[in-house]
Amino acid sequence: MVYPIGGSGQRLVFATSVIAHLQYHRQRRWWHREAGGQLFARFSLPDILIEEATGPRRSDRRTQTSYEPNRRAEQREIFSRHQRGLHFIGDWHTHAESIPKPSMRDADSMSELVAKSEHALNGFVLVIVGTDPLPDGLYVALSDRKQSVALQPELFTKTGSKSAERLPAQAAELPSSQHSGSRSRGTRRFI
Ligand SMILES: [Zn+2]
Repeated sequence: MVYPIGGSGQRLVFATSVIAHLQYHRQRRWWHREAGGQLFARFSLPDILIEEATGPRRSDRRTQTSYEPNRRAEQREIFSRHQRGLHFIGDWHTHAESIPKPSMRDADSMSELVAKSEHALNGFVLVIVGTDPLPDGLYVALSDRKQSVALQPELFTKTGSKSAERLPAQAAELPSSQHSGSRSRGTRRFI
């Protein structure tokens, strides 16, 4: 799955294994609990290759309507993936709805993530996994300090020609540089 980032020329490219991982955790039955984790990417600009989706972990708190990750485990993931050249670029979680939409809490936690961190990215990716088949069942957004913009997938027609659809006008570019940063208590530190 490929999501162009506005007019920046950059693209979010999901590895097949990442899509499979997200799809596996869809809440297809009422008793399924929310799942979630972090997204890690390799920068091969203009492409941002999302190569790994972590979680859920045994130590996360999960109910049918909530997902609370283990922050220490998240931090460990960020450090260990960084050694392999993978950068933390955002979060994913599931919703028990067919076409997922961000909740108020999702919007709050994204703006907190953007605001409270000193990091190398111009924005963070939020992925919400619903129960419908792709692409409708996948919500992909890019948040920066000012706004959150939902991205539309690049679609391919049956003949194989490309048609870019309804690109958001002003989404930010994602990576800027790769400095390390620090974050306040309870939040993640990115490298
Ligand atoms: Zn949510």
